[in-house]
Amino acid sequence: MARIGFERLAHAYPGGGGYALKPMDMVWEDAGAYALLGPSGCGKTTLLNIVSGLLRPSEGRVLFGAADVTALPTERRNVAQVFQFPVVYDTMTVRENLAFPLRNRGVPAAAARGRVEYVARLLGLTRDLDRPARNLGADEKQKISLGRGLVRNDVAAILFDEPLTVIDPNLKWELRSRLKELHREVPVTMIYVTHDQTEALTFADRVAVMSEGEVVQMGTPEALFERPAHTFVGHFIGSPGMNLLPCAVEGRQALLPGGLHVTLPHAYPALSGQVELGIRPEFATLADEGLPVTIRRLEDLGRRRIARLELAGRPFAATLPEGMPVPAEPRLLLQPAQLHVYAGGRLMPGE
Ligand code: ATP
Repeated sequence: MARIGFERLAHAYPGGGGYALKPMDMVWEDAGAYALLGPSGCGKTTLLNIVSGLLRPSEGRVLFGAADVTALPTERRNVAQVFQFPVVYDTMTVRENLAFPLRNRGVPAAAARGRVEYVARLLGLTRDLDRPARNLGADEKQKISLGRGLVRNDVAAILFDEPLTVIDPNLKWELRSRLKELHREVPVTMIYVTHDQTEALTFADRVAVMSEGEVVQMGTPEALFERPAHTFVGHFIGSPGMNLLPCAVEGRQALLPGGLHVTLPHAYPALSGQVELGIRPEFATLADEGLPVTIRRLEDLGRRRIARLELAGRPFAATLPEGMPVPAEPRLLLQPAQLHVYAGGRLMPGE
């Protein structure tokens, strides 16, 4: 087990035209559950491969505890990895597959047996333990891969690279919570790479949100929701994401296009210039008074409805609580304390 640290870490692929991973410093605490979340091409796999040792960074250092592992190959880093597609020996039974990483490390048979059965139970593979892996379906094979990653409890870290992509959606939900459960029982540093916010937010205690080769925010799921440090995080996380309105601000008054005014929360100092106002749809609702808006359409999400609006000529999403009728002359009401102010994409100090 280890704390993983990055010092001025960066990577540019040869001939790649710039940084795939921009210079950064970051720490993943020992035994934490972390997710790397971001859209395709943002650098998640590059960072994960640097941690596993598959890729040598072009700049900076990687530390496991106090040890500099930057130049160490994968086999000397003591990390377990689970990939998007199953890595399973078809000729072996499920039990032999699960025991393989333990046998390789010389773990005594009795200890290995208990551990294999524990992991099998957790993943719902107990009945299949003595079946040849080749007779199992794709979902079960990926469970074996997960099991092989989880079976050792002496690793520095377990790295998951989109491990549930090939899993049936219903089973995905269950496996996600099993992984979380396992992390509570076996506190090993786990890093989970995904482009799916639900997977990241349910698995991880801390999520690193990446955009264009940069970790734009690392925080708890609550922090990413309540205080997005960057407009990208606000927009990427949530469904729908945060509303963003460009506006001019003077003192405490924000002037939206169309001559509308919004008063900023008191937490901010008096400002002047061009900013973006951010507010999540959860803190914006339709009412009888407020800013004039046009309703474009309503989306029924069961417990709540999302009203897709037009505010000062721009799209805007608000929430209509269950049972609330649509006002005849809809107005938009914002919870002022939930307004965030961004300049150049970054959250302005003051909150
Ligand atoms: P995905 O979810 O699609 O795997 P990702 O977030 O994991 O995306 P990376 O695969 O790390 O992103 O890629 C980051 C950037 O580096 C991208 O612009 C990609 O095109 C580039 N890149 C990745 N591998 C190489 C390579 N071997 N040579 C050159 N450029 C690369």
